Amino acid sequence: MATASVQRVPILQGGQWQTGRGQRTGDVFNPSTGRVIAEVPLCTAAETASVVDSAAAALPAWRETPAVERARVMFHFHRLLEAHFDELAAGVTREHGKTLAESRAEMQRGLEMVEFACGLPHLLMGDTLPNLAAEVDAETARHPVGVCVGITPYNFPAMVPLWMFPVALVCGNTFVLKPSEKVPLSAVRLGQLLIEAGLPAGVFNIVHGDRPCVDALLNHPQVAAVSFVGSTAIARYIYETGTQNGKRVQAAGGAKNHLVIMPDADLDLAIPALAASGFGCAGQRCMAGSVAVAVGQIGQPLVEGLCEHAQQLRVGPSDGREDVDMGPLIRREHVERVSGYLQIAAQEGARVALDGRRDFAGDAFLLGPSVIDGVATGMRVAREEIFGPVLSVIRAADLEAALEVGRHCPYGNGASIFTRDGHAARHFKHHFNAGMIGINVGVPAPMAWFPFTGWNQSFFGDLHIQGSESVQFYTRQKMTLTRWFAPAGNSPYDPVWKSSPAN
Ligand code: NAD
Repeated sequence: MATASVQRVPILQGGQWQTGRGQRTGDVFNPSTGRVIAEVPLCTAAETASVVDSAAAALPAWRETPAVERARVMFHFHRLLEAHFDELAAGVTREHGKTLAESRAEMQRGLEMVEFACGLPHLLMGDTLPNLAAEVDAETARHPVGVCVGITPYNFPAMVPLWMFPVALVCGNTFVLKPSEKVPLSAVRLGQLLIEAGLPAGVFNIVHGDRPCVDALLNHPQVAAVSFVGSTAIARYIYETGTQNGKRVQAAGGAKNHLVIMPDADLDLAIPALAASGFGCAGQRCMAGSVAVAVGQIGQPLVEGLCEHAQQLRVGPSDGREDVDMGPLIRREHVERVSGYLQIAAQEGARVALDGRRDFAGDAFLLGPSVIDGVATGMRVAREEIFGPVLSVIRAADLEAALEVGRHCPYGNGASIFTRDGHAARHFKHHFNAGMIGINVGVPAPMAWFPFTGWNQSFFGDLHIQGSESVQFYTRQKMTLTRWFAPAGNSPYDPVWKSSPAN
């Protein structure tokens, strides 16, 4: 329970920060200390609808604001993000628990989204074709869709919101952000800087809450588009409910990412890359390597090397400290849930080669890295998203068997291969059952200019987040045909249509 001294997280509505909202509240923790640092309101349906109304009221003026002026706000915002870079990164670590180095990397990826948004007027240009028919010109123009909503997960408190609103805003939409109630503070700080950057009141709004708040967003008639990032079950729900209500929806879900290590791989390079992929951000990344598929005889040295490497990682509270390689998980219950998979794996016949369950001093939500060997495709650790520092190892006879492992997986976010063989890499790239591929790259996450192309149950919708697909998502096209009649006798040519049988 939060104490009286704990900060109350405000919502942002119509340019005003308000702290009085929400009968129900949730606790925000510092995972490094295990203590509550803030209390977040869980807004009711009526409160949420009223925030959407504010975004709708700001829409007419903002969509008529010239695109270059909208982009200019993002230039100011970018400067402020740079000026506050370390403070923002420290804030991410404080409420999430990832290391300061990981928080800086998160901020850098977010900053790149703002850079992408600064250049958007170019991507907002339409197409024209003069004389599509005789004396008829055709053109397309991109218009904003209206009020857009972003519903974001806990694992990237700043970056995932930045995947969404900079693009939506420069496209001429107004926005309501519903950050994860576990990590609402970074989103609030981004909102403060956006206002300082000169964004007009009501163009960007923040509401907090859980299911009633989300349902109110999905049901509000003024909401035109919903961007969601989170677990697969909720992504599917958001997609189905949002589209049933006539909204366009892009919903990125959970993942189970494979790292295939070929017999010719350079283990000195592959092992640190695998460890960084599986244990970075304590495994709480949608692009985290979760299953290593060891091909041929490389299994034994790989498992030994991984265990040795992982044992060297310094696990500890990350808030205010640079001497930590892996920070805490988001909550105590999540530590228990992830630990439970080690138990399940052993019961299903796998071997826990490295067990991350230790007695750590202090109250941080800590769990060390774990490696599970002898995993089979049917086991729960091979099929389910664990979202913690656990790397499962499946042995495969050859590359075809490794591709088969991927075909069994219901998800399809990312997969990587480690090899020196160009043909094997090409075959993997073409055939592996996932939307983002790495070749000797542990985390094949694209940067702002490329779409985040999850497949299967890792994505519901048509147009992905990031890159030019995001511009298509946040705009709708209008096509105009124009014919101006030349004064009689002045036409430069005799149009074919005048003599066609249809006229
Ligand atoms: P989550 O699905 O629990 O929550 C995401 C958002 O949905 C939050 O804002 C939350 O308040 C809301 N929500 C939760 N339960 C809800 C319900 N019953 N009804 C309506 N809304 C609800 O996800 P999380 O635990 O915050 O984040 C981790 C998950 O996100 C992992 O599965 C991870 O793979 C995924 N993720 C995916 C990507 C991607 O690009 N595919 C990126 C980051 C994270």
